[in-house]
Amino acid sequence: LNFGKYILDKLRLKKDEVALANGETGDKLTYKNLTQYAVNLAVSLIKLGVTVGDIVAVGSEKRNEFVPTMLGIVFAGATYTPYDLRCGRAILKHKMSITKPKYYICSNLFWNTYKDVLMAFDCVKVFITLDDSIESLISLKSLTTNNNANVDLFEPVKVQGQTDVAFILYSSGTTGMPKGVQLTHLNCILNSLPHDFSDDSLKSVFVFGEWFHNYDTFMTYKVLAMGKKIVYINKASPEIFLQACEDEQVNIAMVVPSLVVYLSKTDDFEKFNLDSFMFIYSRSSPLHSKTIENVKKRLPKLKNILQGYGMTECGEPTSENWGTKGPKPGSVGMVSPGTTIKIVDPETRKILGPNQRGEICLRGPVFMKGYIGVDPSTYLDEEGFFKTGDLGYYDEDTYFYIVDRMKEIICYDGYKIAPLELETILQLHLGVKEAGVVGKPVPYFGEVPAAFVVRQPGSNVTEEELKSYVAAEVAPFMQLKGGIRFIEELPRNTRGKILRRSLREMLQES
Ligand code: ATP
Ligand code: MG
Repeated sequence: LNFGKYILDKLRLKKDEVALANGETGDKLTYKNLTQYAVNLAVSLIKLGVTVGDIVAVGSEKRNEFVPTMLGIVFAGATYTPYDLRCGRAILKHKMSITKPKYYICSNLFWNTYKDVLMAFDCVKVFITLDDSIESLISLKSLTTNNNANVDLFEPVKVQGQTDVAFILYSSGTTGMPKGVQLTHLNCILNSLPHDFSDDSLKSVFVFGEWFHNYDTFMTYKVLAMGKKIVYINKASPEIFLQACEDEQVNIAMVVPSLVVYLSKTDDFEKFNLDSFMFIYSRSSPLHSKTIENVKKRLPKLKNILQGYGMTECGEPTSENWGTKGPKPGSVGMVSPGTTIKIVDPETRKILGPNQRGEICLRGPVFMKGYIGVDPSTYLDEEGFFKTGDLGYYDEDTYFYIVDRMKEIICYDGYKIAPLELETILQLHLGVKEAGVVGKPVPYFGEVPAAFVVRQPGSNVTEEELKSYVAAEVAPFMQLKGGIRFIEELPRNTRGKILRRSLREMLQES
């Protein structure tokens, strides 16, 4: 069990076909060049003394080299960990102090942005740049130019697949500081097995290229393992996304719900030829079934929009919903093979049956080795199931549905209100670009839902209008009694998730 060997064997099957295309700059990397780059890097790292157990960090903006750099590290038997250019100094410091990398491969842009933070960590023995050498950084080019390693003969360094860590990724930091998630070679192989879309007619797959996040990382490997093309863009801009989809004839787009909401309202896509567009996969947070219907009506060639449920700690516990009965709107699909899920009552910890909301707990070989520096008893139950903190249920056909994070549930007068339900309803309104909902404390009754709304450009929708729109859609106890505040932009983390903890602070200040 060696993740490097698993991927290398797949990569060798392809040659001049495009593996990676930057849909914004047009830069392309073929399978042959990607593989050569990764193997050259691995050989250089081994010569530098990199070995099993060493942690090699990558800090860079999105670019083609990111993927073969990640692979070169794993081929050398070491552990890869990524740092995101946009994460900011505090988070970078936090992530580096959890992981303490020994080698650091970064771009000059990353170095120039965070030099002082990086230099404060004396765990790092060698800094290598992806670009031309600056200051004390060794240039990767100088390490690899004379080293046209033989790709066919190269073998990744041997590892213990069940215990050696291939990747350390970080959770998104939505509920607190990001956690360092250790994924073994076995975890990475299971996360990269081919997907339902192995059909040969589906050739070009869009991801945002956020290779510091588990979803884009493993979707990239799934696609490369199937020999297809990955298309990505630098800026998370909807127009650039649509242009890249036209230019690179994208068949499947792996996106986040806010982009699907955008597609349900904008007319921008009429300017582009999106005939190749077959499927949209949405992940990270939920999507209202009406939003799905709206987009399907507006993009008649689109076959479907599918949702999946995943997390850094265990990849994809449910697959995008190509279940036995076909996709069900609103559902995140059925449990992936090899994973066991139970839904338990958060208070009594008793196992619940169909259509009963409880905490999603899961177990299986895809589950991480553990968080770095955290006692497992804090996140595993007595049967070894991971307590996800997510509230959900399954229906009579065992299709799963996510309600919200348990900690975010608003308790009002004995009722439980999922802010997500209100957010997705608000987002259906044409005057609303996006919305975030949190609980506002009130005497005696607990909390009432309060909304933060970003208006759609040109809209003058008022608080009263939105309140009565929501009141017509929901039960009386769910009404927005905490009021609506209009703001310019919602606070989000680098993965685009709404930071409700920041909204709660804003509510206190208002
Ligand atoms: P942190 O754990 O650091 O607070 P995070 O949980 O957002 O951050 P990730 O591992 O990126 O970090 O995200 C996994 C979480 O995202 C899940 O536990 C779940 O709460 C949410 N999620 C993922 N997919 C969906 C989905 N389809 N619908 C609703 N929520 C989802
Ligand atoms: Mg989490």
